Amino acid sequence: MKGFICIFLVVIIFSFGFAQVSVDKTRISILCYHHLDLNPKYKTPYTVDSGKFIEQIEALQAEGFTFISLKDVEDFYYKHKVIPEKSAVITFDDGNHNTYTIAYPLLKKRHIPFAVFVYPSAIGVGHDRGFANWADVKEMADNGVIIGCHAFDHPFLTRPGKSVATKEQYDKWLKNELANSKAIIESKISKNVDYFAVPFGAFDAYVDKALKIYGYKLALNVDGGNNGIYSEPLNLNRSFVMKDDSVKAVVSKTNSSPIYFDSTFPNNLERINNQEFTISFRIKNLDELKLASITLLFAGNRKENLVFDKNANTFSAKVKVFKESYYGVSVAAEGNNGKPYRGNWIFQYNCVVPSFLK
Ligand SMILES: [Zn+2]
Repeated sequence: MKGFICIFLVVIIFSFGFAQVSVDKTRISILCYHHLDLNPKYKTPYTVDSGKFIEQIEALQAEGFTFISLKDVEDFYYKHKVIPEKSAVITFDDGNHNTYTIAYPLLKKRHIPFAVFVYPSAIGVGHDRGFANWADVKEMADNGVIIGCHAFDHPFLTRPGKSVATKEQYDKWLKNELANSKAIIESKISKNVDYFAVPFGAFDAYVDKALKIYGYKLALNVDGGNNGIYSEPLNLNRSFVMKDDSVKAVVSKTNSSPIYFDSTFPNNLERINNQEFTISFRIKNLDELKLASITLLFAGNRKENLVFDKNANTFSAKVKVFKESYYGVSVAAEGNNGKPYRGNWIFQYNCVVPSFLK
């Protein structure tokens, strides 16, 4: 009997071990679309031809991706739900009218879940300015589309207007953008709104904290790169899909595994004041990567000279920034398995910081 219990325990420990391994490999690629149109004559750099959109979806499915909903993503982070190892999520920002007229029927027909991030000041105006109206948003919500919040008026949340002069005023302004907007959408669709897409991807630690206070469970940036078990649910990476992206480019955006950082300088979402400084970072899953392949891409795609200090296990590169802006740091590498890896974070150089936050 004792022997039987022992074997039983060993089996339990082993199956547990395997389950853990499979969760660790999970990666979630979140794509950010804005406009779909039936023909490519149309307008913005974010307008994707609807035929091309379908090709992208089908190419991702052929690559083995499963489209999951943001609810699955929430459950993965908060309830350890097992999701497919190659998971992808489709999101549309802004609540454009063509999201309702074009994307919604295309995805509904294919039973592909997706999310739409709306902001009340636009939906309130509706069709006249090219946005969906509340009836459109409600219909999508009633049919399983996840509706998220994209602030009240789509501002740079880190840069309140001139009317905001004190911390109290800033908190009140943020509350309108994060909490009142959420409450308005919830009342219009009669459902909870738990997810937030940060306008312009511009947020900092203060805004990140506010998102938590106002009860959001997931917040999405637009830094590029993918997500995994160690990612922060309130700062998940998303990749833009642009008008000129080829199908191959979209597949490659979704195909990288995440690089996780132990520590970075500057920190994620930090504000810095020096023009010249050293970017440094340690990689948590370094043993999965080919050391010689690790590359630092900074400020768009500028390749920087990277130095590895073996003793401190730290990578560093001296860089210089020129203008006040948000800067993305992207680390690319090839895994020991020959597959691409990518990790990234953002910081801000000297962006107008309200004096009361300094
Ligand atoms: Zn937007």
